[in-house]
Amino acid sequence: MKYRCILLFGAPGAGKGTQGKILGSIPQFLHCSCGDVFRNLRAESPLGKTFLEYSGRGELVPDPQTIELWQQFIADLTKTGRLHPERDTLVLDGIPRNVHQAEILRDVLDVVGVFYLCSKDTESLIARIQRRAMKENRLDDANLEIIRQRLKTYENETKPVLKFYGKKLVHEIDADQSPAKVLSDILRHAVKS
Ligand code: AMP
Repeated sequence: MKYRCILLFGAPGAGKGTQGKILGSIPQFLHCSCGDVFRNLRAESPLGKTFLEYSGRGELVPDPQTIELWQQFIADLTKTGRLHPERDTLVLDGIPRNVHQAEILRDVLDVVGVFYLCSKDTESLIARIQRRAMKENRLDDANLEIIRQRLKTYENETKPVLKFYGKKLVHEIDADQSPAKVLSDILRHAVKS
């Protein structure tokens, strides 16, 4: 059985987490942020250390560890009754993050829509990331050099995922609008998916 899901897609700072939290509050939608799963690891655990090492450089954690952690997380959600795969839609935020991950998850995910939060304004993305770093105490977002590397990683490794899913599934959403307008644009397509 595959997990029905929608993907929130876009550069760091485009608003995936904000939208994911709102969508996840709707019954039968469950927000799953891969970055949050990593941040909830104990910093002194082996994978916690690996996460800090890679995210601290603005790079992706290697695929085998990422996929294993994600599959474990989803299995736990199911076992504990927080996810009912036959009824619920996962709102994935931050995964798949490269084409290899999308390939590995091809037989696991039933992707019914990809919401591409597209921002034309890199400076406002950077400003948002920096505000969030202060509020949420996020080390990977604290310095400008790491932020620029995160944006590069997104361009080089993550953006090709859009092509993997193809035009039919991808809905481009203007991320420079107010959060309420972004939400309304997502919902217009999501309820049809
Ligand atoms: P995020 O909060 O989604 O921006 O993720 C923060 C950091 O976690 C990223 O910069 C990566 O180092 C790591 N990360 C999150 N999701 C993934 C993923 N799917 N694959 C690899 N690394 C990830």
